[in-house]
Amino acid sequence: KLVSREFKKEGTIIDVGGVKIGDKKLAMMAGPCAVERLELTVGIAHEVKAGGASILRGGAYKPRTSPYSFQGVGREGLDYLLEARKQTGLPVVSEILDTRDIDLFLEKADIIQVGARNMQNFELLKEVGSYDKPVLLKRGLSATLKEFLLSAEYIMSRGNRNVMLCERGIRTFETQYRNTLDLSAVPTLKELSHLPVIVDPSHATGKWNLVAPMSRAAVAAGADGLLIEVHSNPECALCDGEESIKPAKFKELMVEIKKIAQAV
Ligand code: PEP
Ligand code: MN
Repeated sequence: KLVSREFKKEGTIIDVGGVKIGDKKLAMMAGPCAVERLELTVGIAHEVKAGGASILRGGAYKPRTSPYSFQGVGREGLDYLLEARKQTGLPVVSEILDTRDIDLFLEKADIIQVGARNMQNFELLKEVGSYDKPVLLKRGLSATLKEFLLSAEYIMSRGNRNVMLCERGIRTFETQYRNTLDLSAVPTLKELSHLPVIVDPSHATGKWNLVAPMSRAAVAAGADGLLIEVHSNPECALCDGEESIKPAKFKELMVEIKKIAQAV
């Protein structure tokens, strides 16, 4: 299979506007769960950049469990991210929900995110697989690693070789936190596949105070990068404030992470 380490021995490195994902240097993706307002988005972008982020995250389209929850600002949100990119130079990653939005994402995003809920949306996988735009594929809420890799295979088999895998926690019997971060997935995916492995400690735990310890653990386990939710005012965030850390905390965490990365 195209995703397998057998097929390709050396690890894949994906160049996103000069940021090399899968390279020795950790790829730090950070930003709000959801894009809200222009000034807020730009402000957070400047703050995460100052803290050491290399890529800005932000959802314009949000896949919410309840239809009554904030659904994202949509198309306009991608323009807020573009303005943030213009001001900070940070490439942006944002989630696509609908194949009909592909042209929009090809034009405006540097990395297209396929979220956990769409890991087995095969039509969406085939669509993002038809271009060479980098894709960040998140593990499904109850997907095995085999299923996860087969979803990556869907993208690659269409021609797109710029795929990164993201472990974001899985459903278990434990209810203390939102999901259970499956850290064994990191070295296992790296053994089975040549694709870069990113860890999202924010959705994996759902609790801001667990983000730092699980980030440290993820880097120690060999992750190629992290995807972290950062908000300047988490109490007022329209989505996932409870798992978002503040910029100062993010900066502090980046310093700790660098030390661990050097030791791995
Ligand atoms: C996200 O990263 O914005 C997100 C919705 O995550 P997940 O698909 O992992 O739940
Ligand atoms: Mn979120």
